[in-house]
Amino acid sequence: MAELTPNERARRLAAGADADRLPCVPIVGNTAARVIGCRVRELRYDAALLANAQVAAYRAFGYDNIRIFTDLYPSAEAMGAKVYAPDDETAYLALPAIQEPGQIDTLRPADPQRDGILPLQLEALRRALDVVGDEVPVTAALTGPFTVASFLVGAETLTRLVLRSPSAAARLCDLALETTLRLAEAIMDSGGTPSLTDAMSSATVISPRTFEQFSLPGLRTLVEYIHGRGKKVTLHICGKTQPIWPLMVATGADCLSLDNDASLAAAKTAVGDQVKLMGNVHPAAVMLQGTPLTVRAAVREVVAAAGDSPKGLIVASGCSLPTETPFENIRAMLDAVREIGFPVNRENLQETHALARKIPNSEPTLNYPGAPRHPFTEGELAHARKLAVREESTRTHTNPSPTCSRVSDSPSVKGRPRSGRGSSAFDAAAHETPNHPGAAGEGAV
Ligand SMILES: [Zn+2]
Repeated sequence: MAELTPNERARRLAAGADADRLPCVPIVGNTAARVIGCRVRELRYDAALLANAQVAAYRAFGYDNIRIFTDLYPSAEAMGAKVYAPDDETAYLALPAIQEPGQIDTLRPADPQRDGILPLQLEALRRALDVVGDEVPVTAALTGPFTVASFLVGAETLTRLVLRSPSAAARLCDLALETTLRLAEAIMDSGGTPSLTDAMSSATVISPRTFEQFSLPGLRTLVEYIHGRGKKVTLHICGKTQPIWPLMVATGADCLSLDNDASLAAAKTAVGDQVKLMGNVHPAAVMLQGTPLTVRAAVREVVAAAGDSPKGLIVASGCSLPTETPFENIRAMLDAVREIGFPVNRENLQETHALARKIPNSEPTLNYPGAPRHPFTEGELAHARKLAVREESTRTHTNPSPTCSRVSDSPSVKGRPRSGRGSSAFDAAAHETPNHPGAAGEGAV
């Protein structure tokens, strides 16, 4: 079958018809700056450039969803938080909007047509829709209310409020919800679809009980509103989410975008009959630091785990890609999904799935159709082994708080920039996800 456009593919899959391949969304954030050769900061303050970069990245790689996104902070910034945008790195939170809980009642919901960079993001959305809206879904990132609330008062203060002054925490979340509802409305008025990303609602950061009390109500209201306007919506939450999968389903979201800390096989069993799943190739250890071969192997693991999930699977990165993710790794993700095809060819998958498990210690061969004859050079094998060791030690040493756990004690929250890019899997993921940017929203549904 000839390659379909993302919209054609989505329509066919939704109708249960044949398609060329599974949908695939490497969650491209500021990597788009690298595609058109501009600085990351320029994307944040130039709507035309942001639209051009995202459209160019989509055209370069051929994935299934464009997301207008620069960082997690536009909503909080529009309500008074201070954001610092380095010249060529993703922006970060410099100062919350208020310094003490007593100031909560001075906050006002933002006007998306006027405040901060929200008007720029809406303009970028309209520009991208004008150019490619008939062939690919174009979404706009919508940071979840609880995450916005944490940027308004600071993560540590919000944690304290949740414990000691729940009514104040709820007031703050309601204010954040009002801003996010207005932004959702503006996104849909522009012809786009909101894509929910809620980094601070991770089970790595808060308890399921806190999620139920403070995150769920706002998310449910947002999803209901978006559904009321005839749109489907994806919910991305970083880090560990298994304890809150049923609650994520209870938000009403149509698709759950899961980080690499989650097991897609377990998610398929637990909630795959209720929602579409999206995930979860490691954005740092595989997409940033791996090779095209390790990416291919990781994609096959993802498809082996959940390619038959009852409501469908979108092959994706677990979170936003680090800015410096090599282009060839993004291409490899799409290539792997094309090779697997649709319906998924179990036989090919098993062979290559076994391969994926062997990479660190053996010298496997690829024998699915179209595989390169001698896929692993000595150098690539050595690199793959090194990666496996590095990832292992990262997991061990950061326990119990993998990638996204740094949200609450992130240097950026305290107003200090992070230095370096992707110096380790941990840093890269933390850098690109909750603190900074990339955390995703991706609604490819
Ligand atoms: Zn994330």
